[in-house]
Amino acid sequence: MNHSTLKLTQISPHVWILPRHPDKNRVQATVGMILTAEQTILVDAGNSLQLARQIQAALAAMAAPPVSHVIYTHHHWDHTFGACVYGVPTIAHQLSHQFLRQMRQENVGETYLRTKVERNPKLILDWTTADWAEFEIILPEITYEGQKQLQFDDVLLELVHVGGVHAADSTVIRVVKDGVMFLGDCYYPAPGYENPTDQMLDMEMLANLLDERYHTYIDGHNAPMQTRHVRRILRSQALLTRLNSSR
Ligand SMILES: [Zn+2]
Repeated sequence: MNHSTLKLTQISPHVWILPRHPDKNRVQATVGMILTAEQTILVDAGNSLQLARQIQAALAAMAAPPVSHVIYTHHHWDHTFGACVYGVPTIAHQLSHQFLRQMRQENVGETYLRTKVERNPKLILDWTTADWAEFEIILPEITYEGQKQLQFDDVLLELVHVGGVHAADSTVIRVVKDGVMFLGDCYYPAPGYENPTDQMLDMEMLANLLDERYHTYIDGHNAPMQTRHVRRILRSQALLTRLNSSR
């Protein structure tokens, strides 16, 4: 186990992240932290109790305001399973509530992840027996449909339901004043692809998400992208499409 303090990265005046783990076998998605005057709002919860505790410790080390809410980008385990550590209300789309309630009824947890490791022995999971005993799927207490604005002290957040093939409940979270957008995994292919290539991404969705008022786009399993990076992906895909269709 690694008890060293996590290295958080500042993105904008109010936004910090724990970047996704570069080792894909850890399936450790980006966790966002939005620091207002009085509170810290997390974007996704971390993929384990241990990671969630490390996030708490890292926030305490930088004297961040207390965590008041967790917003889920979607229901997948690597974005939600750490939530029970924080003991705060979670916010998500109505469909996320539905999917997580179903997962809870079906007891999705230890056996589910163990099956994943059997299928891919390279997977690295930081779960102890004690963690599983403590584990609980946290259903969103606050849900929305379509679009929702949330004011946290001096910071306005916009939640937009975008859905998509990766997860029907995908939510995009815009930190309006900071020009930062959290995308979760919304433009990724259906789950199960460890390393999706650019061609598998939902380019139409990505193109629609581009907004001149936003300069940084943060997704679940890549490094944060500046606008020019997003444009480059879209251009290369458009070029490929033209080449393929001219054959
Ligand atoms: Zn996902």
